[in-house]
Amino acid sequence: MILKICTVGEPVLRKKARALTREDILHPLMQCVIEHMRDTMRDAPGVGLAAPQVGLGIQLAVIEDREENMAALSPAEREERGREPVPFHVIVNPVLRLETPPEVEFFEGCLSLPGYSALVPRAARVRVECLDHRGEARVIEASGWYARILQHEIDHLNGTLYVDRMCRRSFTTLENFGRHWKGRSVEAVKAMLAGE
Ligand code: ZN
Repeated sequence: MILKICTVGEPVLRKKARALTREDILHPLMQCVIEHMRDTMRDAPGVGLAAPQVGLGIQLAVIEDREENMAALSPAEREERGREPVPFHVIVNPVLRLETPPEVEFFEGCLSLPGYSALVPRAARVRVECLDHRGEARVIEASGWYARILQHEIDHLNGTLYVDRMCRRSFTTLENFGRHWKGRSVEAVKAMLAGE
């Protein structure tokens, strides 16, 4: 089932989501929610989807980055983003620790702000303690684009959107992103945005 994705302005996107117990996770209805969220993420398509984005104020997100998602990137762009396929998985009640300062900037988007993008500074490496879809404890050490996805999704569970962290002058429609910014280095983008 494809769920409706809440867009910016929906109050649920601004609330801290509530934690789940192992029993909550193992409940057949929660397993259905996970399945529907996976289908919704793939349909969008997106590389992550947090429960508040489908109107559920719970600390759960699904993540998956498939090879086909990165087909439009050149080998050099893939390399500098540290973008590698990430198999489908679920994170519940995540506790995020940044292992490096949040200063790696790339354009990022969000299914809850369709049609827009901006440069967002993120940590290159993170450590996440969470539960998985079976309620088992997991520790994730991630870097590159996967680390960015984790930071973005965990922000959702705390009521934070990328527009709260973005380099504000870089905010763009996707149409203009394709027209003016795509393929440029971040340094070149920042120089152009300086407005000189
Ligand atoms: Zn998002």
